[in-house]
Amino acid sequence: MDARSVLLDPTLVGTVSLKSRIVMGSMHTGLECHPERFDELGRFYAERARGGAGLIVTGGFAPNFAGRMKNEPGTFERPEQVADHKKIVDPVHAAGGRILLQILHAGRYGYHPAVVAPSPIKSPINRDVPAELTSDQIQQTIRDYATTAKLAVEAGYDGVEIMGSEGYLISEFLAPRTNHRSDEWGGSLENRGRFPISVVKAVRAAIGDAIISYRISALELVDGGLTQEETLWLAKEVERAGADCLSTGIGWHEAVVPTIAGPVPHTAFIESTRRLKEVVGIPVTASNRINLPEDAARVIADGSADLVSMARPLLADAAFVNKVAAGRPDLVNVCIACNQACLDHYFTDQVITCLVNPRAARENDFTDAPAAAKKRVAVVGAGVAGMAAALEAGRRGHHVTLFEAAPRIGGQFALAAVIPGKEDYGLSLKSYEAQLTDAGVEVKTGIAVDPETLKRENFDEVIVSTGVTPRLIDIPGGDDPRVVSYSKVLDGSVNVGDRVVIIGGGGIGHDVALFLAMETNGRRQTREEFFARWGIDGKPKTHAAKRQITMVKRSPGVFGRTLGKSTGWILRQELKDLKVRQIAEARYLKISGEGLHIALPDRTEILPADTIVVCAGQDSDRGVADRIAANGQTVHVIGGARLAGELDAKRAIYEGAILGNRI
Ligand code: NAP
Ligand code: SF4
Repeated sequence: MDARSVLLDPTLVGTVSLKSRIVMGSMHTGLECHPERFDELGRFYAERARGGAGLIVTGGFAPNFAGRMKNEPGTFERPEQVADHKKIVDPVHAAGGRILLQILHAGRYGYHPAVVAPSPIKSPINRDVPAELTSDQIQQTIRDYATTAKLAVEAGYDGVEIMGSEGYLISEFLAPRTNHRSDEWGGSLENRGRFPISVVKAVRAAIGDAIISYRISALELVDGGLTQEETLWLAKEVERAGADCLSTGIGWHEAVVPTIAGPVPHTAFIESTRRLKEVVGIPVTASNRINLPEDAARVIADGSADLVSMARPLLADAAFVNKVAAGRPDLVNVCIACNQACLDHYFTDQVITCLVNPRAARENDFTDAPAAAKKRVAVVGAGVAGMAAALEAGRRGHHVTLFEAAPRIGGQFALAAVIPGKEDYGLSLKSYEAQLTDAGVEVKTGIAVDPETLKRENFDEVIVSTGVTPRLIDIPGGDDPRVVSYSKVLDGSVNVGDRVVIIGGGGIGHDVALFLAMETNGRRQTREEFFARWGIDGKPKTHAAKRQITMVKRSPGVFGRTLGKSTGWILRQELKDLKVRQIAEARYLKISGEGLHIALPDRTEILPADTIVVCAGQDSDRGVADRIAANGQTVHVIGGARLAGELDAKRAIYEGAILGNRI
């Protein structure tokens, strides 16, 4: 199968022809509430249109005040807002793209006190009880959807997407879980479906033949959600009411099943999309954990879907489609499903960007102009900061040599790739390798750089990105051979026994616990294993850990508070189910033949251990930088080598990329 011919095959949605089968799916950017920054949003989407996306769907805009996501504007309901939206639409059209406005009424998921829903039932992920909508308010809300759609088309959008999935207002009307009404809007499926169908009809009447995409919940993953049969009924009714395509969503936000994070196997939910496609005549868009060109092409080629929606993958690489078109899918910068700079930013009120693509939503901070003077640049250390610096500098035409002492590039990313659920980090590294070669960067692995040689070779610029060294533990017995650093465990250079104590409760401590408990050796979970694990087709099936593991930390409080907002719960749940013991408020006394001796507020305890893995943070590895500087050469120090505290791939990659781009 040739991904190029499948993904570049033009197709019709409604009356509009799309140049590729890749849709940039809707995702909140954090700018929807800031009309004064819509020109940035326009640039961000235009970059994706130029990169070959066939269709773009904006983040959600509410049809009225009650439906907003957060306690700020973010509605599109008044004619005077049309001019602001032109700043989004016009650049996309100028770049040859097509764009839909997503209309999203948050229902009981809104983060503000004035939330509404079909019934006054609180969501488990929100603190406010929603007010029950009256019949009049329901009718008004339907008119509001139509008004927003009309305004969108006036602003130049090619149509709208009606957000009908993920547990927002429309889902709440459809599901018995959240709709306990006894009037014409509740009870039977026809009554529960009256609201979405009325919305689609009203929007169709308001916008003529502009596109209506309906985002349908293909799989609810909550008790009291729609059954498969009901979902198929809905799909047919939505088509009959006037939708031009169905875009599939998976799972409510309150579902306790991962739907987009790293542990979800690629294309895991495609069967649900295929079932919808079998019952409708309009195009169907697949989504969720499709991040590779070959997967996208396969699900279209095998008839599971007509289009593939990618939001995060197009954040990670705006030129995704163009790279496929050029026959270079290997150059696609792979989204690793970490959520760290996209969803987690949104949830913490920051504008989104991307961990592996710091240009995302910061397009103006970077230049693509060739460097006026081509310099000879040495980058010492090929962890993520060094790779990002080398890549940006190489792209601007500098002559870059990237030195790495280890036999392979990747640093902490290479270590992370063996953690269950982080296998995509390995794909990201492969893509980095291809991109570095394409940018003309000379990569020299297995070379410990000697400052004298660097000086002799007379580089114009020297960038040091030697990263970090894992911190050791300074207690009596700390030099026992059973005490090892996490890096040695993850790179496979030490054997780990059956009884393990992990010192440190940060992100790496959690990852190492999962790695040792599951022992997958880098093998991805299959779709069947994943479905069984999370009980998607039945009761969740947990597995016994491969080892007896205890995590221990000095600080008080529960473990895992520092983990990512949208992914940390998965890791916490995994470790709980694997029965990993967690002990807080420990003072480390000594290590003896019996194990790790700790003092707790109310007692002392000996934790028996065959292996003690130290995950106690890192120190900057500045040795090379200091020696180069002592040699009289100017040096730029970036990433973990500059600052080990809060070692963070997001910061390291950004620092590398911006320096490499400006050097
Ligand atoms: P970290 O999150 O800062 O955690 C370091 C742990 O070591 C803390 O739990 C700290 O706990 C303990 N510690 C610090 N100094 C110590 C000392 N001198 N002796 C004994 N214990 C000590 O660092 P990390 O786990 O190495 O992770 C590095 C970075 O990568 C972090 O920014 C992290 O967020 C990120 N990361 C995130 C994930 C994820 O979200 N899944 C996974 C991997 C890495 P006490 O002070 O309580 O003892
Ligand atoms: Fe993907 Fe992570 Fe980038 Fe989000 S931040 S787009 S999940 S790589």
